[in-house]
Amino acid sequence: MKEFELIERYFKQKKLAWLNDYISLGIGDDCAVLDIPSDMQLCLSMDTLVGDVHFPKHAKPFDIATRALCVTLSDLAAMGSTPVGFTLAITLPQAEEAWLKQFSDGLIEIAQQFQCPLMGGDTTKGPVLVISIQVHGVVKKGMALMRSGACVGDKVYVSGNMGDGGGALPLVLKDSKSSNDLAKHFWKPLPQIELGKKLIGNASACLDVSDGLVQDLNHICRNSQVAMDIDSNLIPLSNFLLEKYEREAALKYALTGGDDYQLAYTAKHSDKGICIGEVVKGEGVKVAGFETNKKGFQHF
Ligand code: ADP
Ligand code: MG
Repeated sequence: MKEFELIERYFKQKKLAWLNDYISLGIGDDCAVLDIPSDMQLCLSMDTLVGDVHFPKHAKPFDIATRALCVTLSDLAAMGSTPVGFTLAITLPQAEEAWLKQFSDGLIEIAQQFQCPLMGGDTTKGPVLVISIQVHGVVKKGMALMRSGACVGDKVYVSGNMGDGGGALPLVLKDSKSSNDLAKHFWKPLPQIELGKKLIGNASACLDVSDGLVQDLNHICRNSQVAMDIDSNLIPLSNFLLEKYEREAALKYALTGGDDYQLAYTAKHSDKGICIGEVVKGEGVKVAGFETNKKGFQHF
């Protein structure tokens, strides 16, 4: 199959690469062309996933696609941005039709669910599977949610269960085709796009939790020049996680595991998330109610 045919057949499908109010030209020319209303700003974010580094390369192509698009869209959610479209750079060791069909079906599912069509990209052959996705979103001028802005006295919130991503990883590495509930979360960490939009005007700072709650909250602390007191008893843990792991191990995944793609944010008051602590004066994140003498946790 020629590169041109491959793009036509798998990427330039109506269900995947439709035009919308913002995209006036999509796949098929040298560039995509976007219309951005003058009262809006464009938000961009890019993620690269390398086979056997960020996911087992023999995982289902459908799952690889849903994960790649979900984790990238999660950055738009964190800014309160509305998706416009995405571009895809893919490096493939070989052009296998069955693989490409399932991969593009995975993209279609998430593109449809979050109304974020494919609008261009690049296709190359190379020794390992590499997928780079860049998402483009819009936000009202000056309204994007940032990591700076948290104030002493604000409360700290998360949008949902923590630790599922970290808890899923050992299972996914053992069996890349496993489809239990934790593995499902790993392959399809649905981005909190709707919540992100609602947090505009409510959250003082926001990010998506990709590297572990404590580390990510530290980013808000640093950018906002504040500290946080977190109560580990308030951190929501899923039943799936607690079925697989003891509470302490589950909490460790919740605090340091990463791959959750929930939003963590600060606000004076919010009824949209789960309160886990508060913003205080000082530096860094303190977690109460968790044994801090365990290896790896001294500095929390
Ligand atoms: P050029 O040589 O001008 O860079 P290409 O031949 O690489 O153009 O791509 C032709 C068209 O197909 C372009 O519109 C490009 O955006 C699109 N395209 C190529 N690869 C992909 C891909 N993986 N996903 C989506 N669109 C793609
Ligand atoms: Mg060109």
